[in-house]
Amino acid sequence: MKAATKKVVILGSGPAGLTAAIYTARADLEPLVIEGEPSSTSDQPGGQLMLTTEVENFPGFPGGVMGPQLMMSMREQAERFGAEIVTRKATRVDLSARPIAIWTGDPSAPEPDITTEALIISTGARSLMLGLENEARLLGYGVSTCATCDGFFFRDKKIVVVGGGDSALEEALFLTKFGDSVTIVHRRKELRASKIMQDRAFKSAKIDFVWDSVVTDVLGEEKVSGVVLRNVLTGEETTLAAEGLFVAIGHAPNTGLFDGQLEMDPAGYLKTTIGTATAVPGVFACGDVQDHVYRQAITAAGSGCMAAIDTERYLASIE
Ligand code: NAP
Repeated sequence: MKAATKKVVILGSGPAGLTAAIYTARADLEPLVIEGEPSSTSDQPGGQLMLTTEVENFPGFPGGVMGPQLMMSMREQAERFGAEIVTRKATRVDLSARPIAIWTGDPSAPEPDITTEALIISTGARSLMLGLENEARLLGYGVSTCATCDGFFFRDKKIVVVGGGDSALEEALFLTKFGDSVTIVHRRKELRASKIMQDRAFKSAKIDFVWDSVVTDVLGEEKVSGVVLRNVLTGEETTLAAEGLFVAIGHAPNTGLFDGQLEMDPAGYLKTTIGTATAVPGVFACGDVQDHVYRQAITAAGSGCMAAIDTERYLASIE
């Protein structure tokens, strides 16, 4: 297929990608958004917000907004200004080529499917999950990966947090503001988290620990009612009643496509220099794919706007 060169292609359709699409479309850059393909993880069109229920902290929605609704509105807004959105997944990119080359089909095909003068990467990050069937089924119905987003819904409830790193302890400490009790389930006896976080968690009257244990099932029909735990040393199985299960076993950025082509930090997040620019001219990164600190819809949207403006200036500079 002969590729038609675009001015800008955006990879990913979460808040960062769609905000970049709105801005570049309004700047008459006719962006093409490669939104990804449906899947049961956050590596999917619309990103992690597609897996949440109510979003109460996105400015402009005093009554809250459902995550999927927010993404549909952003999408509609981008399309209104002429952004083209395709439901495909990039399978290979060549960032050294000029124009930049993108494959969406067979990655070994000699010719790319799409070429572009500039590329905005907003492929996001995904929360690592336990991989249990009922965990996926009850995601958004008691199972969550974000205490900042969902903690409020667990007022006076019993909450379980899985993980032993800084994220798990941070989530647990945040959740003590709402929950009746917070039980941290960790697969070993020692926490991986930093000393200061450990001290805080040990001091909290609301936090208790279940050591050497893993969650093997999530109970509940419509919403979470408990978890099944297995002690990894004894093999003993127990049931723990809980209305909330927060999975905090780490995140992984969706950056495999750029291995060997873009600079990443040790955790695999893309490195940006000035604004959203990567070290490769014409390639910009925004949202969770380059931010492991804030990870909020609003910060992702903000950096999508920055990437659009950086792209516009780059394109003007090469004209
Ligand atoms: P992490 O440090 O990789 O910790 C992940 C935790 O989840 C580990 O305790 C691990 O157990 C456990 N785990 C992994 N897979 C599991 C599974 N399948 N089942 C059960 N448990 C599992 O990840 P993180 O906590 O998200 O932190 C990532 C980075 O961000 C770290 O560098 C951290 O310091 C930083 N961070 C900092 C802060 C802060 O300073 N406030 C907050 C959040 C994150 P094992 O220990 O047995 O491997």
